[in-house]
Amino acid sequence: MAHKISRITSLLSEIKHPETGNDIVSLGIVQNLRAEDKFIAMSLVFKPNDAFVASIKKAVEEKLKPVFPDVELRILDLRKQSPKASKKEYPVLQIKNILAIASGKGGVGKSTVAVNLAVALAQRGFNTGLLDADVYGPSIPTMLGMDDARPAMVEKDGFELIDPVEKFGVKCLSLGFFVSPNDAVIWRGPAATGAIKQLIKQSNWDGLDFLLIDLPPGTGDVHLTMVQELELTAALIVTTPQKVALADVVRGVNMFRNKDINVPVAGLIENMAWFTPAELPDNKYYIFGKDGGKQMADETGIPLLGEIPLVQSLRESGDAGVPAVLGNEISACAFRQIVDNLLQQPMIIK
Ligand code: ADP
Repeated sequence: MAHKISRITSLLSEIKHPETGNDIVSLGIVQNLRAEDKFIAMSLVFKPNDAFVASIKKAVEEKLKPVFPDVELRILDLRKQSPKASKKEYPVLQIKNILAIASGKGGVGKSTVAVNLAVALAQRGFNTGLLDADVYGPSIPTMLGMDDARPAMVEKDGFELIDPVEKFGVKCLSLGFFVSPNDAVIWRGPAATGAIKQLIKQSNWDGLDFLLIDLPPGTGDVHLTMVQELELTAALIVTTPQKVALADVVRGVNMFRNKDINVPVAGLIENMAWFTPAELPDNKYYIFGKDGGKQMADETGIPLLGEIPLVQSLRESGDAGVPAVLGNEISACAFRQIVDNLLQQPMIIK
C-alpha cells in the first residue's frame, strides 16, 4: 500500500501547475491520498480563484488511468476557503480513518459499542474522536459521564472551530451537548443534517487517527449527509443474533454498498451474543439464539469482528458513564478483541 502511494505521488509530482510551474504535490494541492485495491481517492485543494481546476483534475486522471486501468479514481476538488472570506469551515480535515457505526434498529447496543471501541482505540495510543450523530437520542454524553459538558470554540489557522470535549482520551462531540434531552426530538430532517454538518465541518477534528461516528439507527438523511460531507473509510454494523435481525443487517449493508454511497462495510459486531450471569461467569445462555452473527457474516460475506455478551455490568457501566473497556470484565476483553480484528481489516490505515 505504501509502495502504491509513493508510486502515485511520484506520478502526480510530474504534473506542473501552469501558473507557477511548480508541481501539484509540492504545492500541497494533492491531499488525503488513499490507495485501495479497488479505488484511489484524493482531494485536490485549490486556491479560491484558481483557473486551472478542471485542467489539473483532467491531467491527474490522464496520468493515473493508464498505470492503474482497473482502479476507480475518486477525485474531489475543493477550494481553499480564504480565512477572511469564511471563518466557518476548515478547508480539509486530515483524518486517517473515519468509521461509521450503524445498526438496523435502535436498542441493539450501537452507542455502547461506539463508546467502548473509541476508548479502546485511545488506550492503544490512537488519536481518537467520537461524533455522536444519533439524532433520536444522543446517549454518548451519558455513557462517557459528560452530560453537562459544553464545548468551547477554538481558533485554528484563522478558523473558529468547535473544540471536542475530551474524556478517557477520546475527543467527543454530541448533539446532546447542544440541546436538552427533552428537545432531542426536534432534530429531524434539515435541522438535524445542518447540525451534523456543523459538527463535522466546523469542529476541531484535524489530525485524528480514528473518527468514529455513532449514526442513528436504520437509514436516513443523516447517513446521506455523512457520505456527502466526509470520505468514510468504512462502516461497522452492530446487530443482535436473532434470525429476524438478519433482514435489518442486509438492509444496512445494501445501503452502504449502494452505488451512490459506496462505503465498504468493515465488519459485523454481534452484541448480546449470549447472557452470562455475574455469579456464574462460565455459563453462557444463548437466549437470542446461537451463532446468529456467524450466519449473518456467512450470508453477507462480511467478517464478524467479535461477539459481546449480555452482561449486567455493561449496562451499569454505560449508565455510570465509565466505559466497560476501562475495566477487566469479559465485555472489556470482547471490545479489545474487536479492535484487534478491526485493525487487521485492509481498508484501515494504521
Ligand atoms: P443503541 O445505540 O443501539 O440504541 P445502546 O448502546 O444505547 O443501543 O444500548 C441500549 C441499552 O442496552 C443501554 O442501556 C445499554 O447499556 C444496554 N446494553 C447494550 N449492550 C449491552 C450488553 N451487551 N449487555 C448489557 N447491556 C447492554
